[in-house]
Amino acid sequence: MRALTLAVGLASAALAPSALEAAEPFEKVWCLRYATAPGAPLSLLLAGAPAEQKADVPFAMCVAQRGDYVVMLDAGYVNPELGKQFGVGDWTEYAGLLAEVGLRPDAVDYVTLSHMHWDHTGGTSRFPKAKFIVQRRELEYAAGALPHNSAAKGAFVAEDVLAVVQLNWQGRVLLVDGDVEAVVPGVDAYLTPGHTAGTMTVCLATVKGRVCYSSDAVYTYRNIEEDIPLGLALNAGEAVESYKKIRRILNGGRLIPGHDPSLFQDPKSLGFRKVSDHAVAIVE
Ligand SMILES: [Zn+2]
Ligand SMILES: [Zn+2]
Repeated sequence: MRALTLAVGLASAALAPSALEAAEPFEKVWCLRYATAPGAPLSLLLAGAPAEQKADVPFAMCVAQRGDYVVMLDAGYVNPELGKQFGVGDWTEYAGLLAEVGLRPDAVDYVTLSHMHWDHTGGTSRFPKAKFIVQRRELEYAAGALPHNSAAKGAFVAEDVLAVVQLNWQGRVLLVDGDVEAVVPGVDAYLTPGHTAGTMTVCLATVKGRVCYSSDAVYTYRNIEEDIPLGLALNAGEAVESYKKIRRILNGGRLIPGHDPSLFQDPKSLGFRKVSDHAVAIVE
């Protein structure tokens, strides 16, 4: 615990030029589609979309690598039966998924948890050696106030929240307060709330420049390009305010949204490359 506290303290004290300079950029970044909701209403992603518009919505995680240093962005979910209840299928086990890009779940050093919805935090058990990075506000809300909010709690699973609380007791959680650059080497974390209380956007320093994974703070490119509110947000106004912040922190980098069908259906149009059934290379 002591070492963790120290590490977080250093990171935040420092927005530190020395710490940032010490971090070598990531050499590779991939996004991995581990499940899909076929023919889902587009209005789930884009508020107000006509009922007849449908999309095959991807459920994905991303992963960044430099040598043997590996950081996952989100943990997905690992209960395919639960996914089916939400209309999500074609689930893929993580060992095979990561093998498509030459990685293993037990080689992951850190997992950033963008927020604690079931499809982003349900898979913590698959990363036995990792530490998890989450906004303090997200964990506190999910563990405390959320169970009393019947309108919001349906997209969370109590066991996922309890697992993160347990990991925290084991010294395996780094709590982030707001915006912390270099929270771990090469990773900047930002509070971009609205979708949930403490939704976090994560930006990576890579050999091809900055890459920011907004997860569900921005569901699709259209949300942020056309200022369309999210189909699901705990606080819709705050979520749209977070778009402004994300434009600012992008700082000329590439954005990876949480559930954009085009990322996997037509990665070439975005300047990315399909490398396997489930993987798209963002940086290589
Ligand atoms: Zn979500
Ligand atoms: Zn999601």
